[in-house]
Amino acid sequence: MKKFLLVCNFKMNSVALSEYQNEVGQKQINNLVLCPNFCDIKEYCALKPNGIMIGAQNVSEFTNGAYTGEVSAKMLKDVGADFCIVGHSERKKYFYESHEQTNTKIKNLIAEGVTPIVCVGEDIKKDEDFAVRFVLMELNQILKDIDLSRIIVAYEPIWAIGTGLVPSNKHIELVISAIKKYTGIDMVLYGGSFGENNYIQIASINGVDGALIGGASLKPDLICKMQSEID
Ligand code: PEP
Repeated sequence: MKKFLLVCNFKMNSVALSEYQNEVGQKQINNLVLCPNFCDIKEYCALKPNGIMIGAQNVSEFTNGAYTGEVSAKMLKDVGADFCIVGHSERKKYFYESHEQTNTKIKNLIAEGVTPIVCVGEDIKKDEDFAVRFVLMELNQILKDIDLSRIIVAYEPIWAIGTGLVPSNKHIELVISAIKKYTGIDMVLYGGSFGENNYIQIASINGVDGALIGGASLKPDLICKMQSEID
């Protein structure tokens, strides 16, 4: 099958490193990025010799100084993160992250050589035209003055996140194709209830380069199964 990147977002949950280590064993694993919580990033770097890449779930918009509780892009780089999710819908919903803040975070990550995985997606379940307009409008604001060759986009319809609902193949294909056409970005992932019952189907959709995975990330056996079957 084609190269298909799986990006696992553990959110504010802990998965013992040993659970992933037991599944991985001595194997080389391609195209898998694990994004544990900040506290576990360093420990998870133990999986890098197996080919597994490590990411963070968020980053500060500031570079250093008196910003209690914040973690900078340089700190992420220094601890071993190669990727960082930015602008996730949960950051927008619960922490009121603005497009302007997301834009600054992306710039800080690129400056440190950490690849941003930029999340966009419509909040209401409607037709493809609505989704394309919504997502392109978001990208227009979020990606101002950004080097587009340095980022990955994750198309995540908000109504599909954690709900078990998934758009049709046609919907996913049309939205991702519009993102690529209007931005020139090469790598676009799908996210939203990607799991055991749909991974083969979604991985086969034209133009989909990978998946951003929430809930299923907490099951290392399932992630390793998906990875070996898709790879
Ligand atoms: C997410 O939170 O980005 C996500 C895709 O979650 P889930 O896979 O649980 O829908």
